[in-house]
Amino acid sequence: MVAPHKLPEFYEMMAQIQAPYKVYIDNVQTLINRAMPANASMKFDFKNYHDFDTIYKNLDDLANQYPNVVQSIVGGKTYEGRKIKGVKVSFKPNNPGVFIESGIHAREWIAPATAMYIFHQLLTSNNTEVRTLAESPVFNPDGYVYTHTTNRLWRKTRKPYGFRCYGCDPNRNWGYEWNTGGSSNNPCSETYAGPMPFSEIETRSMSTYISSISDKFYVYIALHSYSQLLMFPYGYTADRVDNYDLLYDIGMKTITALAKRYGTDYTVGNIAETIYVASGNSADWIKGTYNKSIVYTYELRDGGQYGFLLPPEQIIPTGEETLDSIIAMLREAKTLKKYGYEFDTMRCYNFHYKSIFIMWKTILCMIMGLVTAEQITFDDYKVIKINVTTNRQVELLNQIAKDPDHFSIWKEPSVNKQAELMVAPQKLSEFYELMAQIQAPYKVSIENVQALINQATTAKASETFDFTKYHTLDTIYNYLDDLEKKYPNIVQTVVAGKSYEGREIKGVKISFKQNNPGVFFESSIHAREWIAPATVLYILDQLLTSNNRYVRNLAESHNWYIFPVCNPDGYVYTYTTNRMWRKTRKPYGDNCYGTDPNRNWGYTWQSASNDSGPCTETYPGPAPFSDIEIKSLSKYIKSICNKFYIYLSFHSYSQLLMFPYSYTVEHVDNYNDLETYNKIIMYKETMWLLLLLDEAYGSSVDWVKFACGTPLLFAYELRDQGEYGFLLPSKEIIPTGEETLDSILAILKEATVLGYP
Ligand SMILES: [Zn+2]
Repeated sequence: MVAPHKLPEFYEMMAQIQAPYKVYIDNVQTLINRAMPANASMKFDFKNYHDFDTIYKNLDDLANQYPNVVQSIVGGKTYEGRKIKGVKVSFKPNNPGVFIESGIHAREWIAPATAMYIFHQLLTSNNTEVRTLAESPVFNPDGYVYTHTTNRLWRKTRKPYGFRCYGCDPNRNWGYEWNTGGSSNNPCSETYAGPMPFSEIETRSMSTYISSISDKFYVYIALHSYSQLLMFPYGYTADRVDNYDLLYDIGMKTITALAKRYGTDYTVGNIAETIYVASGNSADWIKGTYNKSIVYTYELRDGGQYGFLLPPEQIIPTGEETLDSIIAMLREAKTLKKYGYEFDTMRCYNFHYKSIFIMWKTILCMIMGLVTAEQITFDDYKVIKINVTTNRQVELLNQIAKDPDHFSIWKEPSVNKQAELMVAPQKLSEFYELMAQIQAPYKVSIENVQALINQATTAKASETFDFTKYHTLDTIYNYLDDLEKKYPNIVQTVVAGKSYEGREIKGVKISFKQNNPGVFFESSIHAREWIAPATVLYILDQLLTSNNRYVRNLAESHNWYIFPVCNPDGYVYTYTTNRMWRKTRKPYGDNCYGTDPNRNWGYTWQSASNDSGPCTETYPGPAPFSDIEIKSLSKYIKSICNKFYIYLSFHSYSQLLMFPYSYTVEHVDNYNDLETYNKIIMYKETMWLLLLLDEAYGSSVDWVKFACGTPLLFAYELRDQGEYGFLLPSKEIIPTGEETLDSILAILKEATVLGYP
């Protein structure tokens, strides 16, 4: 699958390597839309793919309907806290068992649908051949839930590895000949083996469960899609398994039976030869650890016409033919037994009973109905200040920052300035070595990032808004709504735009008098800079409540357009998952999220250089205004251009007050006016330095200057200078608010002197 903007590059490469190719699926999204899962209220059936709630309810119904046959079992749990819950179906104790595992790869929806079909048939079919089977339709529920929520083509589990990579391939994580081939050490890869065997709670807990019942089943079947293959161990090597001929023979009979009904054509062979070398898969582990004779992996329909996006009309036919084939497989196993093949230690091969394990999941967060990821932690991550003196040092620091799993730039490197870089503990020695090489003096400014994250008080969702804590988006938005109710003639809430995940960019307009000149506040375009919205909200509060006559005069002689959180998705994400997140949250490719919303504006926008792709923290997006946040916000700003003459953009940290341009060192038309602010603001207790931002293309202030011609534009980098960085303690909210308000008073006073607006 190739993203549209990479097609020319791809075709060029194909021409170069002279590999023939043809387009199989013209538009992946069209197929996704066609195979949409049934909505939650729909009843379970085999005409649709279903979400977990529906499937689980159906399972409950069946357990109630067959109380003596169906028994529910928790086989394991997932990283996101879901149970891998299942049922054992048994018509008689001590039956031999069959274990079917499915849904280990999240996007292969036909696999659990087929397993579910087989399960239903086992309970209801009158066909006497429908016998002993055991199955686990959804082995990887986090991934499965994820396919239903955000990324239909997700494959892996959902445990975070590093800043931006999630999950390992649960079929490369099993502890037999782990990571010996056909798997990746790169956490972003779709076949990441994990840091060690059974690093995933899903595979670890399931393997523990399987071990505990290892003497209860003799057939293990894994269902995947797609390719129409029936495979047996090994995956880690092309060397033949001890009972290769047996497995090949049974396999041939199995696929013959499968083809009978609809002519669906399968191929048989061992995993390594039939598909590719794949170590750490579940089938190898079952074979290698328990020496089970009959272990098969299905790659179900189709041959690639729809791939992972098999239309739901094919669920029943796939279920039927797969059940046919399993019946043939077990019949054949029994027959071959007569010819002297030894299976295992099971005493009884009586196929007159049904014995089924259905591993199923349950959603713990039923109330939320959301995938809630665990927080990414930054234990022993350090922030290091580096005195940069040469361009070469700048280059090298930017270079290592291309590994956003282990490095994050907190303050950009620039000659004769201090850069700040967050470094993962496992990369420290490498980092120190580099520092020694480039002879840049440095010192550790934050010893343990996680300790500061833990220290910073964040209010719980239910708490009321105040200035002693940082607050969630909901609390902030509720506070804005409350202000509107409290000051109905003065405060009006305004929705300036929306976010990729559907949130509002909500702000307020404060107006004591209709035709006042206006001031625009844009804040929290960068998600992790929490002091920015906190400061802006402090100023908002003062404008409404202060008794200071300067503040009153200022407040009532201007109209205020205040947007505390311009990147709501990112802001929410800093609360739920990654406190150090900077960007928006739109997915780019399989593993990367978001653009730098302060590089996405449409004036002097520049595309990313080749080596700074969508995973980097300053990714400008594939095109100007590619982020809906920036696109919608810019439209709103444009619509009220003539209503404000001062535009303030709030960031942290570094204690800087900057004005345009950011894309060039050339001076703006009123450079001298803007420079006079240097003098004023230097008086304040916290020293603000006035300087030009280092080259940054596509920033908000440059665009507003261009689009609106606004004369006075400033970008604040608020407290501090690196002691806490983005993790400024909440007791600094009020002092930061006070001094920033002071500086705005000075800006407005000086504006009058200079003759603005
Ligand atoms: Zn920022």
